[in-house]
This record gives sequence, C-alpha cells and structure tokens, in this order.
Amino acid sequence: MILYLLLSFILGTAVGSFLNVVIDRTTRRESILGRSYCDHCRATLSTFDLIPIVSFAVLGAKCRYCKKPISWQYPLVETVTAILFLLTFLILVSENNLSLATLAYYLFLISVVIVVAVVDIKFSLIPTTFVFIASFISLFYNFFSFSPSLFAQHTAAAFLSALFFLIIVVATRGRGMGEGDIILGFLIGMVLGIKATLLSLFLAFLLGALVSLVLILFGYKKFGQTIPFAPFLISGLLISLYWAKPILDWYLMLY
Ligand SMILES: [Zn+2]
Repeated sequence: MILYLLLSFILGTAVGSFLNVVIDRTTRRESILGRSYCDHCRATLSTFDLIPIVSFAVLGAKCRYCKKPISWQYPLVETVTAILFLLTFLILVSENNLSLATLAYYLFLISVVIVVAVVDIKFSLIPTTFVFIASFISLFYNFFSFSPSLFAQHTAAAFLSALFFLIIVVATRGRGMGEGDIILGFLIGMVLGIKATLLSLFLAFLLGALVSLVLILFGYKKFGQTIPFAPFLISGLLISLYWAKPILDWYLMLY
C-alpha cells in the first residue's frame, strides 16, 4: 500500500511538471513537445534541471545559467498535483471503487482542472478547449459506468449548471464571469450530478466571497474589482468530488 501511495505521489510530480509546460505553452501557442527552456535567458534546460520539486529546491529557486528567479508556479503545481493524485488513490481504495478506468478518469480530470485554474489565475482566461474535452470524456465515462437514470441525471445537471452560469453572464452583462464559466459549469454538472453540483457551487461562491474579503481587507484588491473565479469553481468541484456524501449527510443531520 505504501509503495502504491509513493508511486501515485511520484507520478503526480511528473504529471505536474508536464502540466506546467502545458500551462505555459498553450497560452503562447507553442508546441508542447520541444525541450524546456528558461523564461529569462532561454537556455535549454538539462534533464538535471527538470526533476520535479527537487531541482527547484537544489537550485535555490534560481536558474542555473542566468541566476534569475524561477517562478513558484513550478514546484507548487507539481506538489498540488502529487497531493491530489495521492488523495485520489487513497479515496478510491477506501470507497472500494478502484479500477483502472476510474483511476485514469479521475487523474485526467484533476490534471485538466489544475491547468484551467492556473491559466485563469495567470492570464484571467479559461482554456475552454480543455474543458470541452474533459466534458466529453466525463460524458463517456458516465455512459459506460453509470445506470441509464444516473447517466441522465448527470447530463441534466450539466445543462442546468451551464444554464445557471448563462443567466449570471446575461444578467451581469459579462462583467466578472464569461463563457468560460458556463462551459466549466457544464463540466462540473456532468462530473458531479445534481446534488453534489449544488454543493460545489455553494462552496465556490462561499470560498470566492471569503478570499475576496481577505484580499480587500489586506489591500490587495479594491471593492468591485474582479478576481478569477475558476479556481473557486474547481476547489468546489474537487471538494464535492471527494466528500459530497459526508458533507451532505452532516448537513442533513443538522435538521
Ligand atoms: Zn535562465
């Protein structure tokens, strides 16, 4: 078991390292294949510079060639991916739900939403192509692993959730939210189904409000300024994906 946990963590750092490349290059419209290079001096990085987390620590957060700082994005994405991979493995095992298809589906989904969240934080845009692809994969996964009624319920949740964001976008005339949020809403509904989608949206708005409040209090943002919303939607999605049942059970127990 410990060996599997270690393996899922290491796999997570390696995938996280690849996600960093996807994040940087999709927005620059570069191929994701060529060799990695330093953003400052363009020196081609050697294999030794590219070991996830380790290289960043060993090099003291600086490029070996030009000594300019390396962004915290790299070790952070690698670590978060690794932790989520490990958590996914643990939860699927504890739910007795571990199959290769389910594990692959979850890890793929996590990889996509990490890219979407970081691209939204960095560039204030949602890479909708990735969200579309993930929605399709989710549709296929649901079709082959759910009962027909559950499949229909998740598909309905996707359209209702997208409709919810469409109404917000129309009502606010696209200030703050855009078409990216509508498509992300569609993905969330498809993955979670109706109940867990409601929970995830509630959590997203709650987290968004809390973080905005903290940013305003500490002077990082002014009231009325927008902050990227995809990271909150994705936090809500991940929390609901793993813990919707215990949270909803606890909530219902209060009444
Ligand atoms: Zn450099």
